[in-house]
Parts: sequence; structure tokens; C-alpha cells
Amino acid sequence: MQQQSIGGVDIHYLSLCKRKLWLYKHGIQMENESDQVLQGSVLHESAYPRLEKREVLIDNEFKIDSIDGEFVREVKLSSRMRESDRLQMLFYLYQLQLRGVVKKGLISYTKERRTEEILLGPQEKLEIKAAIAEAYKVVEKQKPPGLKKLSYCKKCAYYSFCYAGEGDEDDA
Ligand code: SF4
Repeated sequence: MQQQSIGGVDIHYLSLCKRKLWLYKHGIQMENESDQVLQGSVLHESAYPRLEKREVLIDNEFKIDSIDGEFVREVKLSSRMRESDRLQMLFYLYQLQLRGVVKKGLISYTKERRTEEILLGPQEKLEIKAAIAEAYKVVEKQKPPGLKKLSYCKKCAYYSFCYAGEGDEDDA
């Protein structure tokens, strides 16, 4: 397949499940109205009305939800996917830094009423570079990584697809 660029949502999926990333990038898109991404956008409006939501499209490659002064901001329902949220934010900070724009990240979790600051230091830079390289490797595979039972699966938009009987137990 023609190489597609990797974006912030892709990095989020990579961190959650490599199979999910592959399915998503290969055109099997089953995200629905109950998806957390959409919920997050509704939450953004209701929980942080004063925070200007201003989608910024960077080089036609990825969108950032909101920029608030020196911060890139994201609003999430809960910290259940905290590690994936952190990696996605690192992706945005890294991409901006590549373009000469230095920002910090803030992720607000509405359920916990907590906001976390994310900084892109040298270690985080290595981490996100490795994640991007890994995401390309996953997407370039001819077949999706095997089904791996995760506690997250039941909430995943691909649940019915993955558990329709065709999955194997290979490691992703
Ligand atoms: S249902 Fe589970 S294995 Fe399938 S894509 Fe989602 S998280 Fe991955």
C-alpha cells in the first residue's frame, strides 16, 4: 500500500493496540458516535467553555485541538488511556518542535478533574521518535497484527470485527 503519514491519533492507537492501528490505517474505520474521541470533543465544549477550541492543521498532516498560549491542550473523559494520551501529546509537541515551535502540553481529565502537564525532554523525544518508527513498521505490514485480548477490547470500536472468529493469538 502507498505509505501514509502517521498522525497523533495513530500514535494513540499504536499505544493502545497495534492491531487497531493497522485496521484503522488500512481503511477499516469503525469509530462511531460513542467513540471516546467524539465524546472528548463534546466534553471539551461543556467542561471547558472558556477554552477556545481552535483546530490547527499543521502542514496538512495533523490537527491539534486547541492551542492556549504556551500550551497545546487536550480534554479527555478519563485517564483510563493515560499512557496513550501522553504519547499522542508528545507527538504533537515533537511535530511542533520540528517546525520551530516550542510548546508544553496540558491534558485535562474531566472525570478526575485533573490536568497533567506533559513536557518534551530529550528522553521523551527519543521515545516519540521510536513510537513513530514503530507505527510505520506496523502499518507497512501485509497483514494485521494478531488479535491480542486486552481489557480495552470490549470498549474498542473494532470489537465485533476482531471477535467475529477470525482472530489468532499471535503477539502484536
Ligand atoms: S478489539 Fe482488541 S484486538 Fe481488536 S483492535 Fe480493538 S483493542 Fe485491538
